[in-house]
Amino acid sequence: MPPPPPILIENGTVITGGKTPAVLPNHSVLIENGLITRIAPKARGGRFAGKRIDAAGKVVMPGLVNAHTHFYSTFARGLTKTRPASDFVGVLKNLWWRLDSALTTEDCYYSALIPLLDSIRHGTTSLIDHHASPQAVPGSLNAIAKAVHETGLRACLCYELSDRDGARISKEGLEENASFIRQCHSSSRRESALKSNSQPNVTALFGLHAAFTLKDATLEKAAKLGHELGAGFHIHVAEAQSDQDYSQRHHRKRVVERLNQFGILGPQSIAAHCVHVNRREIDLLAETGTAVVHNPQSNLNNAVGIADVVTLMQWGVLVGLGTDAMTTHMLEELRVALWAQHIRAQNPSVAFGEVVSALFGNNPEIAARALRLPVGELRTGCVGDAVIVDYDPPTPMEAGNVFGHLVFGISQAAVDTTIVGGRVLMENRRLALDLDEPRINARARELAAKLWKRL
Ligand SMILES: [Zn+2]
Repeated sequence: MPPPPPILIENGTVITGGKTPAVLPNHSVLIENGLITRIAPKARGGRFAGKRIDAAGKVVMPGLVNAHTHFYSTFARGLTKTRPASDFVGVLKNLWWRLDSALTTEDCYYSALIPLLDSIRHGTTSLIDHHASPQAVPGSLNAIAKAVHETGLRACLCYELSDRDGARISKEGLEENASFIRQCHSSSRRESALKSNSQPNVTALFGLHAAFTLKDATLEKAAKLGHELGAGFHIHVAEAQSDQDYSQRHHRKRVVERLNQFGILGPQSIAAHCVHVNRREIDLLAETGTAVVHNPQSNLNNAVGIADVVTLMQWGVLVGLGTDAMTTHMLEELRVALWAQHIRAQNPSVAFGEVVSALFGNNPEIAARALRLPVGELRTGCVGDAVIVDYDPPTPMEAGNVFGHLVFGISQAAVDTTIVGGRVLMENRRLALDLDEPRINARARELAAKLWKRL
């Protein structure tokens, strides 16, 4: 695809994001060849022949990152045919493992399209997904990649390898990860040969479900294959106490220690949740540079506990924020993360800086590793992923108090425009894509109804 024409976003209040976000009133952001090439006060904007977007009375900020989600869970919305679960493993057995086992390849494609379009509406532009469809493993990641390409967003995909459905499906999971990783490698080589500033929209990690559904032999095969392919791993870690209990009972090791012995941890790897980890495990996560992704709404919904985000960060772990498919709205997840930390500590003054940094400082770093691109920040040289939010601050806003505006104000405002790599995906709250959304929703409803019958 040729690079989109240059875009100049003018007159907005720019929040740069990143580790130390700056607030730049009445600045312009220039995006050329998919990259941010200049951020300057309006007066120095000069002559410009490309597309101009007026952001007066609005905030311009980086496209947000969702560091852990599951597109396939879309078809669970409104599903009533499940037995109530009394614990986390019950939630998996009564709902998720029944649902994912009924997914077809077409279901994978449509169930991805819906949250991707929703992400555009909420200003989320990069997503790290974890996919399962045990009866439709081969080609499932390509079906999702097709949806990602059609929406113009960025995503890092993986297939969740597991032994829960037997040896044949476990083998298919290994092969789906390996072939998709190889495919992503070769397409990024092809794109970079074509153009030096090309931006691959889809990349891959090696997916693993969780330690308690993976035998030692399977972990060993996955680790060997992942290392040969130079891929990091994406796995659920100590989401519920039952994961630790199982690991101690069957392997006489804590979950993180077991994964470390197989070489699953590392700076390219993502450990989702880590609600139930001890000091030794936190040290291992920090020493290996493994990213931990916190998913507070999911943890509260499944009643598994609340991760100790403050301690994880204090002890040197890179902690990001995901939604585990509970929402595509990262600022909603951010708010819940904060309230959950307050309840956890029984202290209304903790974790403010930590949770906002997880989203605006750490998620960009996690996404940059996964997507191999400088994403998540409005800075010269970063990719041109920007969102314009309909927020004219009613109180003074500057670097020192911007976190308060993000949590209490910007989170409550509508996203007006979403841009990825300099391509406008939504403008004036209307999607600017060549996709027939009513038809997509109608087909998704048909497929979901059929899937529910198969359960
Ligand atoms: Zn998950």
